[in-house]
Amino acid sequence: MARLVMKFGGTSVADIDRIRNVARHVKREYDAGHEVAVVLSAMAGKTNELVAWCREAALLHDAREYDAVVSSGEQVTAGLLAIVLQDIGVPARSWQGWQLPIYTSNAHGSARIVEVNGAELIKRFAERNREVGVVAGFQGVHKETGRITTLGRGGSDTSAVAVAAAIHADRCDIYTDVDGIYTTDPRIVPRAHRLDRIAFEEMLEMASLGAKVMQVRSIELAMVHKVRIFVRSSFDKPEDIDPSGTPPGTLICAEEEIVEQEVVTGIAYTKDEAQISIRRVQDKPGVAAAIFGPLAEANINVDMIVQNVSEDGLTTDITFTVPAADYQRACAVLETARSNVGFKSLDGANDVAKVSVIGIGMRSHAGVAAKAFQALADRGINIRAISTSEIKFSLLIDADAAELAVRRLHSLYGLDK
Ligand code: ASP
Ligand code: MG
Repeated sequence: MARLVMKFGGTSVADIDRIRNVARHVKREYDAGHEVAVVLSAMAGKTNELVAWCREAALLHDAREYDAVVSSGEQVTAGLLAIVLQDIGVPARSWQGWQLPIYTSNAHGSARIVEVNGAELIKRFAERNREVGVVAGFQGVHKETGRITTLGRGGSDTSAVAVAAAIHADRCDIYTDVDGIYTTDPRIVPRAHRLDRIAFEEMLEMASLGAKVMQVRSIELAMVHKVRIFVRSSFDKPEDIDPSGTPPGTLICAEEEIVEQEVVTGIAYTKDEAQISIRRVQDKPGVAAAIFGPLAEANINVDMIVQNVSEDGLTTDITFTVPAADYQRACAVLETARSNVGFKSLDGANDVAKVSVIGIGMRSHAGVAAKAFQALADRGINIRAISTSEIKFSLLIDADAAELAVRRLHSLYGLDK
């Protein structure tokens, strides 16, 4: 017997038929003797609709009321699943964030989970014939004000991991519309293959750098609390699953659990970044602070930074990247800081892509990145900026070369199957 959290996303609960399908998945685990808590998203498209209603009501609206509105999608699906489970003979009840409770910060619209009380779920496993707790994802409550909060878009992944940590679950199963984590996007590289296992650190990089399977925060939380996550498909028919076999999927786990570690695990890419270059900056102490201070104050995330050595000892060039959505704002901030910083000109590009090569094996292997530089050079792909960390390196290139680069790197590091 195991204790499981099963999380289903919006497409898996899009209508009553799909909810019945989810219920059969839950019943399958329940009948196998497991203790089960379920975490759900709203029906596909529902949260978008609720967000749009808030905007239509008033462009500038009270964030607390926004949360009151957008949290309602999950209230509906949680209740419906409990009804369907009861109907097929599985004891179940729904839980909203404030009922467990799931305490969060009061950053309405993007609140952070502070504490989850899983005691009642555990008690009911023991006392009520393993009653299945169906928890509304995405929402919580601020302890001091008692107001409902939401965790930011995609937040039900984070709810699931937090509930799993709170009830000391053996595993958190994420049922989604893909059957696991792939070495890269299979739409770009048909030879991409599903990973059996991936380490938390690697998954964190993959998720941050473009693989959109799970909310980044959920992986951070899983890493801290050592919650093992299994990503699997919600489209498999519950009746077709062999209860004694291992279903297809990817286990996200601690690196000690990964026996055969490849040097490179995956390639991520994103076109959501823009490059800014500041030319002929005065080369003196304090300049970097004068540039990046105001950007930080404006809440703009700077990622890759390249500074040239100045030839004349007087001026230099600095290149860096910001999220594409913040590009215009970043330029405006820098223009304002111009007299303070002292630079000749500012230019930038929005049509860039960041390709990242990820693998914890890089810690113990030298020359991994050098191979990539040569391979891209052979294809005539120019590298605009480079950044590295212990377990990954990222290359900024022209957006229209991104797919070629991803394919080339995928085979270079032996990931083609
Ligand atoms: N329903 C919420 C959203 O669409 C939370 C989630 O699905 O994870 O963002
Ligand atoms: Mg999601």
